[in-house]
Amino acid sequence: SIAYQESRRRAVGGVVWYSEEIRQAIMERQNVISNFKSILENGEFIVYYQPKYDPVDNRLVAAEALVRWNSPTEGIIPPGRFIPLFEKNGFITKLDDYMFASVAKQQAEWKLKGMKTVPVSVNLSRVHFAQDDIVHNICGIIDSYGIEHKMVEIEVTESAFIENKSQLVSVVDHLKNHGFVISMDDFGSGYSSLNTLKELPLDVVKIDRDFFVGEGYDDKGKLIVSSVIKLAKSMKMKVVAEGVEVKDQIDFLVKENCDMIQGYYYAKPMPAEEFAQLVARDA
Ligand code: C2E
Ligand code: CA
Ligand code: CA
Repeated sequence: SIAYQESRRRAVGGVVWYSEEIRQAIMERQNVISNFKSILENGEFIVYYQPKYDPVDNRLVAAEALVRWNSPTEGIIPPGRFIPLFEKNGFITKLDDYMFASVAKQQAEWKLKGMKTVPVSVNLSRVHFAQDDIVHNICGIIDSYGIEHKMVEIEVTESAFIENKSQLVSVVDHLKNHGFVISMDDFGSGYSSLNTLKELPLDVVKIDRDFFVGEGYDDKGKLIVSSVIKLAKSMKMKVVAEGVEVKDQIDFLVKENCDMIQGYYYAKPMPAEEFAQLVARDA
């Protein structure tokens, strides 16, 4: 077991030393793995929505779906604490499917109630690309809720493309042929490179949050961001800047013709009901 291995590593002179914090982390890890199925079935994984705004007229134009684990004992747990585990053991594909289904269901419900809706993107883990029937699978999920494909967008990271490039190019091609809008996530981070823009028929480039951390608008950072925006636009792609927290950066991005901004400056990820209210007001 993990606890056993951990205790072996930390055993000193036959006495096991580990802090309460580590003990908790181990328990949580085992708990989330062994109870994955029931956590999923009990609806403890919930969808948070983070809006994307058009910075020119400050309208809410789209959103990203981000998973949270609403634990009955611990409350809201962020994805950083379980997604890496699920990527290792393969559960991530089930979780991603669940997110596609939840978002499609929610979109259908809002539509039925006559509410305004905007496209919502879902993250597709690289692990997913190993499955042959991925395109068929995603179409099946979305179609069962009768939602237009363009209302559920797909975010992929470049690291998805490293292992089996030709298969991935073909999956993205297929998804596009089926009317899905595809974004390259975390562009400019360690997980993505310029080559991908050449090889994949992407619709949107999301500029990584790292560019906007800290001062974020020093001269070099600004030059890179403005060049990426120009490059993407010359290739007919839209640009989203992620993780923007301050007004100066918004002003700069407007000047550079950035299409959309997703960041705390506008809004943090939030539960569906709150998001629906924001859509009613800002979309
Ligand atoms: P990501 O796809 O890059 O999502 C954006 C992350 O940046 C989110 O973190 C969001 O809360 C955060 N963020 C947005 N604006 C700001 C800002 O202005 N300041 C700061 N400090 N942070 C900002 P979150 O929700 O914790 O998600 C972390 C990562 O977990 C995501 O990064 C994504 O890689 C993964 N993830 C989340 N949900 C899913 C999912 O359903 N499936 C998969 N495969 N991965 C997911
Ligand atoms: Ca994302
Ligand atoms: Ca991102």
